[in-house]
Amino acid sequence: MEIEYRSGVDDAWYAVKILTEGDYGERLRVRFCEFGAEYDEVYEGENLTSVKHMEAFESRFRSASVQVQDSECPNVVEGMLVCAAVSNRPDDCRYFDAVVNKVKRKRHRIVEDEEECRCEFILFWRHGPNGGSLTTRFVGDICRVQPQTEEVHPLVTLFLQTVKSRIRNNELSHVPPSTLPTIPQHASSRGMTKFFSERDEHDQDRGGVSFIVVVKNLEKGISPFTIMEFIQEQLCISCHASVWPSKPSEPYVKGMIMVKGKNNLDKLSRFLDDPVQLIISPSGRPWVMTEMIQLDETLRISDRGCELMSHERTIICNKLKLVKFGSQEFKKAKRLKQLFKQREARLQ
Ligand SMILES: [Zn+2]
Repeated sequence: MEIEYRSGVDDAWYAVKILTEGDYGERLRVRFCEFGAEYDEVYEGENLTSVKHMEAFESRFRSASVQVQDSECPNVVEGMLVCAAVSNRPDDCRYFDAVVNKVKRKRHRIVEDEEECRCEFILFWRHGPNGGSLTTRFVGDICRVQPQTEEVHPLVTLFLQTVKSRIRNNELSHVPPSTLPTIPQHASSRGMTKFFSERDEHDQDRGGVSFIVVVKNLEKGISPFTIMEFIQEQLCISCHASVWPSKPSEPYVKGMIMVKGKNNLDKLSRFLDDPVQLIISPSGRPWVMTEMIQLDETLRISDRGCELMSHERTIICNKLKLVKFGSQEFKKAKRLKQLFKQREARLQ
């Protein structure tokens, strides 16, 4: 099984081999295929202390990306996630993720019976030295990111299972005995969210600045709890949410998501504005992030907003969905998002 790993040292993707060590597979060794053992990165399970850490670590592994061949160039289209080369020197080439922003198609040539692609691919880099900017690449620089599979690699899974059972044991042993039985089974997911949210805040800088992200085009009747649950599930960050009442003539409602700290804000805004995915309501209505506001430091995020809205919990059980680039649902949601933005622009 060929996999690649996003290095903890330079954040670039590399082809790697995985080895586990220790009696229970509690140590993971990442060996870089084209480098000697002195470049190995070794991870001790005991350093992964929370589910959040563990998931962040797991997300650094994926199936190896595949080099796009010249004849496959029509498959590389706008909005597609690719892994592409950045080279500062001829002998130093590293791979980072980018989204195809535009393709300038050129006629292919045939050279010695081989098709040669001369198209230009303008990439928006998601990380690495060009992160956040646009640059042009050619087909030879571009690899196709493979669809995500359930299991990255059996040894990574084994390592994470060992870590997970240790974290679970630690958490259970730290919870006061009276706390556990009070979470009713039927409300477990909501109860647990709240439970983890309180625990999370202890880990974070309590004095951090708070930010509000305004999201428009939410489905009428959506509960703030649905928003909070979804964000916590997807990003493992604590947040608070509230929904503004709307006029009967307005087809949607506006929501506010509040997070503490610049890191959480960056994580949330990247997630909401990611060009390769959209968040939709059950009817297909896509979320549109419109504003980010920094709160005065004297204002503290409180649960009050949510409590006031808590009656809404019973009104609707509104499941949100993340749709990925390439699917029909994404295509439809993307079009709706564009229409929404056009309409907003006209109203201003
Ligand atoms: Zn081409």
